[in-house]
Amino acid sequence: MRIGVLAVQGAFAEHMTTLAAIGVEGVAVRLPSDLEDVSGLILPGGESTAQRRLIERWGLREPILDLARSGAPLFGTCAGMILLAHDILDGDPVTFPLLDIAVRRNAFGRQLDSFEADLRVLMLGDRPVHGVFIRAPVVERAGLGVDVLARLEDGRIVAVRERNIVATAFHPELAGETRFHRLVATMAAEHDDPGEGSGRRHHPTRRMGQAR
Ligand code: GLN
Repeated sequence: MRIGVLAVQGAFAEHMTTLAAIGVEGVAVRLPSDLEDVSGLILPGGESTAQRRLIERWGLREPILDLARSGAPLFGTCAGMILLAHDILDGDPVTFPLLDIAVRRNAFGRQLDSFEADLRVLMLGDRPVHGVFIRAPVVERAGLGVDVLARLEDGRIVAVRERNIVATAFHPELAGETRFHRLVATMAAEHDDPGEGSGRRHHPTRRMGQAR
């Protein structure tokens, strides 16, 4: 199983390193053909306006939407979250309106350009997630179908999931945090082989002879 990392601009190298650390092969995605053999895709942090333009120019928008529509997981961090949002409150054009959220870019203002915070993410266990926020967006509205995964202490939403789409306003990959990548790898494996547990037994023969 291979997971793509969009590599048009921004902090993609750290995602490749994190995938390697959990034993998953990462593919730097620059061309539509790079997407042919991936089971999921990570959209890294960086500058979302620049990324949007390069995604359009390099013909990546439709193939990435097709990948998401196939049910493969997409995981956006920071600028990647902005690219996945239905609404960008600053009036920027949307790129992949796959998450029913409204985001505000650079939501923490000039005084607080960057900061770090420990977050409770119930689905990732008891140990807090250490998040690095760099000119981060915040989620100002989350639709009914959206699971809120993490909030700051003041209640603002900074991590969400809607079906196969996961996004964080912060960078887990800059803090040595691997659990989001493990989650995405698990979702990608389930997408590749939905037999186990989902009720859709695409490979019934594999279960023959299994001890119970
Ligand atoms: N401020 C950037 C944007 O609006 C996102 C910053 C980041 O990805 N670390 O695109």
